[in-house]
Amino acid sequence: QTTHDFIFTAQPARVVFARGSLSRLPQEVEALGAHRVLVLCTPQQRDQAEAAAKLLGALSVGVYDGAQMHVPIEGARQAREHARAVGADCAVAIGGGSTIGLGKAIALESSLPIIAVPTTYAGSEMTPIYGITEAGLKKTGRDARVLPRTVLYDPDLSVGLPVGMSVTSGINAIAHAAEGLYARDGNPVMSLMAEEGIRALAIGLRGVVRSPSDLAARGDCLYGAWLCGTVLGHVGMALHHKLCHTLGGSFNLPHAETHTIVLPHALAYNASAAPIAMMRIAHALKVPSAASGVYDLAKQLGAPMALRDIGMPESELDRAVDIALANPYWNPRPIEAQAIRELLRNAWEGRRPR
Ligand code: NAD
Repeated sequence: QTTHDFIFTAQPARVVFARGSLSRLPQEVEALGAHRVLVLCTPQQRDQAEAAAKLLGALSVGVYDGAQMHVPIEGARQAREHARAVGADCAVAIGGGSTIGLGKAIALESSLPIIAVPTTYAGSEMTPIYGITEAGLKKTGRDARVLPRTVLYDPDLSVGLPVGMSVTSGINAIAHAAEGLYARDGNPVMSLMAEEGIRALAIGLRGVVRSPSDLAARGDCLYGAWLCGTVLGHVGMALHHKLCHTLGGSFNLPHAETHTIVLPHALAYNASAAPIAMMRIAHALKVPSAASGVYDLAKQLGAPMALRDIGMPESELDRAVDIALANPYWNPRPIEAQAIRELLRNAWEGRRPR
């Protein structure tokens, strides 16, 4: 056995990355052999979706603006019903993880091909992972049917993403890459992509904070999002993603902000067990230490730094620890109750890790 042994099954997806790539939408629909496209969005992004429908002309069967955070099952059922009623043979999801998540919920039952046009950096467009919330519980799973067939990355479309959301969604992407670097089923290709994704996002996010309409910076962020999303789609996640899932689901904390706050602490927890991953993260950020480097980056970018500032009650910290310990999962460092308690306390207070 050599240290380079790995098994790598690549996910089939077609990616078009370019400014103005949205204009290719009709060609991409035709390449899939589709004729009746339903455009999905949130109410906030109706204008962008209308523009996409207009480009599609006779290929469009309308815009459906029912995408919501965390994909509630009722919303997914209504959207599936609507897609059936209008006879859609393809869906275009234009938006962030919530809109792409709605497309995936439709595809899960109907195998409808999805074209994703991501406008945040969350990375859902590159993964076969879906999430649906039923009775307050978010269930996630993997299914090849939900992987978008085609992804159009167009930096022009992310210019309107507010700076605060750009920063937290970008650090959410960095979290995929960071955990990908110590994944049990990691491989050299994903590690290269992860390191490059972190590097591109750190540069791009600084540029976006300086000037939100800087298209080169928006391009760097979206390029980083593609890389990090690809990592998330190919390898398993560990402590950080489990903690964020628990906190988001059980205490209704906002997704990207929670990732941003928890990541430095999860990396500090895993530092001694995954030294090579930490070295690569630090190298990508050009800092001496991964955990404090991610913390400093988030702080410089003006992100929220403490769970107490995004609605996590102190009285619930013990319950959060219990939930985090309830389902054992793989992590490079074993899950130890007292250390997890400290991790969550530090994240709640927003302390800088060493
Ligand atoms: P989001 O999709 O919830 O978007 C947040 C808000 O920003 C929405 O109102 C949206 O319309 C708006 N918005 C998005 N892009 C915009 C733009 N360019 N300009 C103006 N407004 C814009 O946020 P998100 O962080 O992209 O996604 C979070 C969700 O995605 C979570 O539910 C998370 O679990 C899921 N997710 C899933 C995966 C996966 O692989 N399945 C990966 C990452 C995230």
